[in-house]
Amino acid sequence: MQQTNSIQLFEKAKTYFPGGVNSPVRAFRSVGGTPLFIDKGKGSHIWDADGNEYIDYCASWGPLILGHANDTVLNAVEKTMRNGTSFGAPTRLENELADLILSNNPHIDKIRFVSSGTEAVMSAIRLARGFTGRSKILKFEGCYHGHSDSLLVKAGSGLVTFGNTSSAGVPESFVNETIVVPLNSTEAVEQAFQQFHNQIACVIIEPIPANNGLLLQDKSYLEFLRTICTKHQTLLFFDEVISGFRVGFTGAAGYYGIQPDIVTYGKIIGGGFPVGAYGARKDIMARISPEGDVYQAGTLSGNPVAMSAGIAQLSECLKPGFYESLAKKTQQLISGLNALNIPGMKIFSVGSIFWLAFTEREKIQSAEDIDPNSMAHFRKLYHPLLENGVYLGPSGYEVGFMGEAHTEADITKTIQAFKTAAAV
Ligand SMILES: *Cc1c(COP(=O)(O)O)cnc(C)c1O
Repeated sequence: MQQTNSIQLFEKAKTYFPGGVNSPVRAFRSVGGTPLFIDKGKGSHIWDADGNEYIDYCASWGPLILGHANDTVLNAVEKTMRNGTSFGAPTRLENELADLILSNNPHIDKIRFVSSGTEAVMSAIRLARGFTGRSKILKFEGCYHGHSDSLLVKAGSGLVTFGNTSSAGVPESFVNETIVVPLNSTEAVEQAFQQFHNQIACVIIEPIPANNGLLLQDKSYLEFLRTICTKHQTLLFFDEVISGFRVGFTGAAGYYGIQPDIVTYGKIIGGGFPVGAYGARKDIMARISPEGDVYQAGTLSGNPVAMSAGIAQLSECLKPGFYESLAKKTQQLISGLNALNIPGMKIFSVGSIFWLAFTEREKIQSAEDIDPNSMAHFRKLYHPLLENGVYLGPSGYEVGFMGEAHTEADITKTIQAFKTAAAV
């Protein structure tokens, strides 16, 4: 496989950006080698700077549920763009996207658009604190919620801990407001509520944890969280930046039939443009400025170009059978891959999200269930897969996404590529 141009571009990029990238996983450090510089995408395929073609299961980390350069999305964006790209004043497009979401999603009454998932979570944490008048938050080891200070925290040793920072530059005083517990443990959550009675503003979870492998929780565990939050007047915060509009139009809340108090969205909602959103019931959202006393603002919030991409994409998602078809294709891929009997490989999935794990376990439900040494197996497969035309997110902790644009032929070719790669 020719990589000359990517290698050259990466060398140049290293002189401009720390590590040569503008977001760390892109640097390929988990899989080794040089990151591919991508020139273009269409449908389920991408082409790198050396003209190599791949079937793409990264989908820009999830947003591109319709595939690359989708014509419906592009047409909407172009039409909007020609009338101006930003006004810093309200537009009818914000109403339209909000209406599309709120009238098809019973879990929130009001919404606010921001420009990224990180910003959505950060703002919604402030809202949870403002609404409850409490300052501590509880998060789970193995869930990712963007890179705001209070969430760059990992578990210490012990069942219930104040986290240790997972990044330099996060003050100790911030970390002391974040309690970290393992996923799938009722005991840890109960202990945290006992220890920090009346101090926990919210329990934040990815209801479908998909940023550190796919750590599917039992429905009963999410129900347990609902019950204990209600009991302690703590807000249950579903971070649905990945799962929202991915496992169904109503996200994990709809999938499991559980009503959270605050929800965040991102990724799919922007149709490939930078968007995030948070929403809740009316009385909680009434606390947001200018109606209420919790401040949050954004120069490009509700940006018309991003709104029109979101409207176009979500309108497609609403068509009958959309999610069923994605799930069916995903199962087709998985059963084909399972039939190859690649030693030690197991595939966990929900809807159109799948994760390749190398484990003997029947289930993997917490971060500590993942053996870091198992990543060597993923690393070994990764480059042979590229050579055979299959692009996955460049880390064994990342999930893959099936999109509307993936075809039967893509699936057949992907299975063949795995067969070849596993034999290397
Ligand atoms: C991607 C992601 C974020 C962060 O979103 P950005 O747009 O990258 O800032 C937050 N939470 C979850 C669950 C995510 O998957």
